[in-house]
Amino acid sequence: MEKLLNFIDGSYVEPISGDYIDNFEPATGKVYSLIANSDERDVELAVKAAEKAFPIWSSMSIEERSAIMVRLSEGIQNRMDEFVAAESRDNGKPLTLAAHVDIPRAVSNFHFFATAITHFASESHYMEGLGVNYTMRKPIGIVGCISPWNLPLYLFSWKIAPALAAGNCVVAKPSEVTPYTAYLLGKVAKEAGMPDGVLNILHGLGGSVGDAIVKHPKIKAISFTGGTKTGEYIARTAAPMFKKLSLELGGKNPNIIFADCDFDDMLSTTLRSSFANQGQICLCGSRIFVERPIYDKFKEAFVAKVAKTTVSNPTDPKAILGAVVSKPHMEKVLSYVELAKEEGGTVLTGGERVLLEGEYKDGYYLRPTVIEGLAYDCRTNQEEIFGPVVTITPFDTEEEVLMMANSTQYGLAATLWTSDLKRAHRMADKIQSGIVWINSWLVRDLRTPFGGVKASGVGREGGWEALRFFTEPKNVFVKY
Ligand code: NDP
Repeated sequence: MEKLLNFIDGSYVEPISGDYIDNFEPATGKVYSLIANSDERDVELAVKAAEKAFPIWSSMSIEERSAIMVRLSEGIQNRMDEFVAAESRDNGKPLTLAAHVDIPRAVSNFHFFATAITHFASESHYMEGLGVNYTMRKPIGIVGCISPWNLPLYLFSWKIAPALAAGNCVVAKPSEVTPYTAYLLGKVAKEAGMPDGVLNILHGLGGSVGDAIVKHPKIKAISFTGGTKTGEYIARTAAPMFKKLSLELGGKNPNIIFADCDFDDMLSTTLRSSFANQGQICLCGSRIFVERPIYDKFKEAFVAKVAKTTVSNPTDPKAILGAVVSKPHMEKVLSYVELAKEEGGTVLTGGERVLLEGEYKDGYYLRPTVIEGLAYDCRTNQEEIFGPVVTITPFDTEEEVLMMANSTQYGLAATLWTSDLKRAHRMADKIQSGIVWINSWLVRDLRTPFGGVKASGVGREGGWEALRFFTEPKNVFVKY
């Protein structure tokens, strides 16, 4: 069976432990490859390689660094089919989604930061009659990047690209649940001419290799995307070492629908914002609030559309939903449906596993689920489910819906549907979240700040925010 090895110092190497973990294909429930089970010894090797590479990479001209990263981006583009097939197989998402969203976005991430760095500038502050301050922004050194399973290469590259562009060397770990495209990336980096040791990719469990990255004293910054509980642990571990931290964590996002919205546009977008990627996007709107005058109309139209949504194996071009990422995750999502029923909710559609036939009979498929009749503050409406499950709740006033929307510990993204411009601005101002989409969802401009407030994270990614995170400012004052 194929072994997914670590990529350290420009070569694929076995983990020092010699151990491997099973890699499951969600569509079939079968093991199809083996993942290096790395630990702190592999992290030590990666850090040594990165230390050796740092003087080379950080002193390279920006143009040269940028050119290597552009070639890396093109390298993924040239292997589009291989990456798309790998992402879909590893994660369970429909091939069409990997082809239209995940891999093109990984290509853009590298290209965007390869060119952004050529425009990145630092500040100078003139003091009348006294002198001038200028600020240098230098790479930090060795940085750690840890990413989750839902958008594997998309989120992995979203961290690695700005880290590398800013001149850092990277020790990175993809999720052990979806390591395949990160494994392929080593080859492409090598072909692009990236010096050995600049990008090191380690595989294995969060609790061992991930933890060792967070704890290593020579890794000076950690960029992490994942669950809030893991983020809390990482913050507790890294803060006493005074590491820079960027944490992109969970969400429980409100989708607020006013009666004056463009109903058709709202309906088709709400279908996507609820169930894209099997609902496993941190930005999905899992709590849908609908203004009472259109509640019944919305409920009828939405449930009818959801009930007709095709759940199928990821290679089926008709699949709107593929498999969820793992058996434990499928079980977790189903347990939340049970909880919702205990809390007095009514399942309007879905709520169960879909059993396909033939080679897909053991795959992890769930029917998209809509639940109503729950209190805004029950566990189902407060905890992140991260699957194809949404709740619908009516509201009467702006104040009431703002109170319900802001009631969770999270604050990542919010969606608003209304044709009243003043209300849109008023609500956007008062919603507690890092991102607000008005009459749209998941429209991304890579220059904008990306991230959440409250338990959804610390810091922002994207554009200058990411390049600032991955550099250390030093101010110099010169007296006249
Ligand atoms: P986890 O927090 O379980 O894992 C994320 C990554 O951290 C994985 O690579 C994991 O490895 C690793 N990890 C786990 N434990 C540790 C540890 N002690 N030290 C260091 N690394 C560790 O999240 P999931 O992979 O389950 O991803 C889903 C979560 O990610 C959801 O909560 C979702 O909201 C959030 N997310 C947030 C986004 C945002 O931008 N705010 C975007 C996308 C997802 P392993 O896989 O081996 O456990």
